[in-house]
Amino acid sequence: MIKCALDIDDVLANSIETILKILNCKKKIDKIDEYYYLTQKYGQKFWAAFEFAWQNPHFIKLIEPESPQYILNIMKYYDINYVTKRSKFLYNATKRWLSENNFPDLPLILYDTIEEKCKNGYNVIIDDCPDIIALLKKDQKLFFFDQPWNRSICVIMKDNITRIRSLKEILNFLQEENNSQRRGVNNAV
Ligand SMILES: [Mg+2]
Repeated sequence: MIKCALDIDDVLANSIETILKILNCKKKIDKIDEYYYLTQKYGQKFWAAFEFAWQNPHFIKLIEPESPQYILNIMKYYDINYVTKRSKFLYNATKRWLSENNFPDLPLILYDTIEEKCKNGYNVIIDDCPDIIALLKKDQKLFFFDQPWNRSICVIMKDNITRIRSLKEILNFLQEENNSQRRGVNNAV
């Protein structure tokens, strides 16, 4: 089965919005057009706010209320792991957030560097981090989750990258792919 790495921060969980509140940062999320803007501006304070948020996971809302259901449907096509960059001590808090928000119980993998995400044999990656693009292998597919900090990156000409605004678009993509394969089989017959 196709192996899929599903990111958590700002794909499932609205972490940046939560961190902006904790840091009392007045900048609107739509104006953050650089992935590293907050980590560069706040340094350790950013990570302290991140860890504080995840230790109090009721602070963190879902990006899309329907995403647990979308994942259940995507699971018919992909073998999904939640793959996220964070300190190992946040494992239980992250698990709790996923289960309290009714996400399917799937393996949770924590890693230290973005390179690890592309190296671990995933065929499909769902992520909002622009750094993935340079690390992506030709046979890996990226569903690039639209966020203000990745909007300036043009992926239209890349076959293995599809920009999505909702996880639902992955389902549309998979159903379309399935239909065209079926059409192909029928034509061959
Ligand atoms: Mg992310």
